[in-house]
Amino acid sequence: MKRIQRRQIAIALALLVSAATFAQEREYVIVVHGGAGEMSELKMAPERAEMYYAALDSALMIGDKVLSAGSEGVDAVLAVINYFERNPLFNAGVGATCTSEGTFELDAAIMEGKDLSAGAVAGVKHVKHPIDAAYAVKTRSPHVMLSGSGAEAFAKEHGLDMVEDNMYFATPKTMEWVEKLKRESKKNGTVGCVVLDRQGNLVAGTSTGGMFKKRWGRIGDSPVIGAGTYADNASCAVSCTGHGEYFIRHAVAFNLCARYKYLKESVKQAADYIINKELNKDAGNGGLIAVDKEGNIAMPFNSGGMFRGYLYKEKTTGKLVKKVGIGEEMR
Ligand code: ASP
Repeated sequence: MKRIQRRQIAIALALLVSAATFAQEREYVIVVHGGAGEMSELKMAPERAEMYYAALDSALMIGDKVLSAGSEGVDAVLAVINYFERNPLFNAGVGATCTSEGTFELDAAIMEGKDLSAGAVAGVKHVKHPIDAAYAVKTRSPHVMLSGSGAEAFAKEHGLDMVEDNMYFATPKTMEWVEKLKRESKKNGTVGCVVLDRQGNLVAGTSTGGMFKKRWGRIGDSPVIGAGTYADNASCAVSCTGHGEYFIRHAVAFNLCARYKYLKESVKQAADYIINKELNKDAGNGGLIAVDKEGNIAMPFNSGGMFRGYLYKEKTTGKLVKKVGIGEEMR
């Protein structure tokens, strides 16, 4: 073999080894979001902002507990989103925003990158944890998305926790809105979680009450696979938040994975391009969280802020790195 060829093979091998080492630098990665929006009122209310920081921190630690015990990424995503759905600070489960009729209609989706299996529910009113129903659709039905009363019948049949009264999802704050629907007010706080687990599997989940004053059974991007939620082990796991109609039109979550896979952009480049260039900032307001198959993270938003955080475990040192943020800076 000629010397040049041998050198080329040696370089190719070295690159392969370094790529493999890089892929394992982070034992696991968790990224969460709790919705995007203007956040202007939080600037005037630091104590309230502290509640969000604490909740994001708790969400990350819940995911860490699951992954450090050796469980799979999908278990971490379910545990994190279940926590958010119980927390009234967020627009998911209890605390969900209301429809124009003053009721609550919830959407959720989950997807695993290892086999592209996915499940989603849309417009459910009596399922306590919509993310669990989405997971049940994925694992226990031949379908990907169920909606309304059919989704509820399915959830009941599979023994999921149901609530009799749709007002279970109300909080003092959402009740104020229900009473004063005429006064324009909205709530940000869709929740999402993406994970790269120890086995190299990518998982994404999203849960939401949708957009304030939505009508006619409106469904947003969150439960739409490829729009608000997507995961593919060959590229990234993505969960979006923002004005859903725009996220659907731009197939944001799949779009990001496609840019990464086919244009060979980094997850950050692809995410920044879609959020800041492709979406119209005035209309397509929002952001996303993403992690790629090597554990790199992106969390861009084009709104005033986005509740978000990440945690990863360094493989060599065992060190946990964790950061949460609302506005530009992370802490
Ligand atoms: N994307 C959600 C929807 O359009 C809302 C949000 O993330 O704030 O339903």
